[in-house]
Amino acid sequence: MRSLSLLGSTGSIGTQTLEVVRDLNTRGQRPYRVEVLAAHSNVTLLEQQVREFRPRAAALFDPAAAQDFRDRVRDMDITVLSGLEGLCQAAAWEEADLVLNAVVGMVGLRPTLAALAAGKTVALANKETLVAGGQLVMEAARKQNLELLPVDSEHSAIFQCLQGNTRSQVKRLLLTASGGPFFGWPRERLEKVTPQQALSHPNWSMGAKVTIDSATMMNKGLEVMEARWLFGLPPQCIQVVVHRESIVHSMVEYQDNGVMAQLGTPDMRLPIQYALAYPDRLPGPVRELDLFAAGALHFAPPDLEAFPCLAIALKALEQGGLAPAAVNGANERAVEAFLKEQIGFMDIARLAEEALAACPQGDAGSLEDVLAADQWARQRTGERIGEGLSPSAWL
Ligand code: NDP
Ligand code: MG
Repeated sequence: MRSLSLLGSTGSIGTQTLEVVRDLNTRGQRPYRVEVLAAHSNVTLLEQQVREFRPRAAALFDPAAAQDFRDRVRDMDITVLSGLEGLCQAAAWEEADLVLNAVVGMVGLRPTLAALAAGKTVALANKETLVAGGQLVMEAARKQNLELLPVDSEHSAIFQCLQGNTRSQVKRLLLTASGGPFFGWPRERLEKVTPQQALSHPNWSMGAKVTIDSATMMNKGLEVMEARWLFGLPPQCIQVVVHRESIVHSMVEYQDNGVMAQLGTPDMRLPIQYALAYPDRLPGPVRELDLFAAGALHFAPPDLEAFPCLAIALKALEQGGLAPAAVNGANERAVEAFLKEQIGFMDIARLAEEALAACPQGDAGSLEDVLAADQWARQRTGERIGEGLSPSAWL
């Protein structure tokens, strides 16, 4: 039986991961013992989870929540960790073989590095880790001769399309994008989008941050960066393809112009299960794909003008060094402000663009520099938000 440390267990990916584990364990296929669960502050759900899965440890980032949690589980034999240190301990937990990192945001970087340093296989949903610290993470994995298992659906699709083929013969990655809820909207209409509108995604039900990123298409930009690191291809070999139906989860084009695609019902439990059962493909909870119901599949180029976040992310990738960390930090801060209705929808792009234009130079080979670029961007973005944005003065 393999054992799992799950970071971000109370989130959208985290709860679906536990569903998959429950299902695999019930079937007796690829059973997992859940060793550690970690979250930010959702003590109620975490308590339910530890009472069901009986892990040896639980971590809460928020120290007050961790204290509350200790009181709640006093009757159990469980170690309760807290803070970033606790999250890193959870990631490096000795008895765990696989760490699935499903926390949201750049805070996932240090735990990912801690897991790799401890020789764990890492399944990564937390894309911000690779966006900001891709160079560090890939070096750490190489040093330990460990393969990263992608959980993000597009990257899992690419990973699946690479199986049995020669990586050096890949010509391009075709990364599909649903286009989000505002596909086809003109810029003026996008200015007035509310958090409530942006939180309703047509094809996927996800956490708030990634849902907003999908609506601005920053998500696709972050995913291009994620793909660049995971698969080691230069940016010009990664093409974003808008595909409204979210049935083709991404494709790999080889030198002979043959294109391999992975298709399926849009359901994150498939890429999650693929990472947990890799290299096996086991029966699971995901519905069969009904191609007759789908009828037609459509593909289009992305509209970089209506969705400047994608263009900004691509520019940051081109620039390299600390630019992706800065854009990611600014975006995280801006999305938080948008959700609190402190700024407008298009201000997210404005703030990301500003951070890119003024970001610190230098390469992303040291953790301190990456963390400093992230902090710089958050602080600067926070100050800009505090000053109050007047859209006319921007872009
Ligand atoms: P959610 O917001 O639903 O969940 C986030 C999880 O991370 C929660 O368990 C939360 O705990 C925890 N968390 C947040 N901050 C911290 C912290 N500082 N320390 C410890 N735990 C923390 O996010 P999603 O599940 O949607 O997304 C997770 C990651 O996966 C993101 O990087 C996202 O981009 C990526 N992803 C998500 C997809 C999806 O379908 N949801 C698809 C592809 C990628 P708490 O509940 O206590 O706040
Ligand atoms: Mg994705």
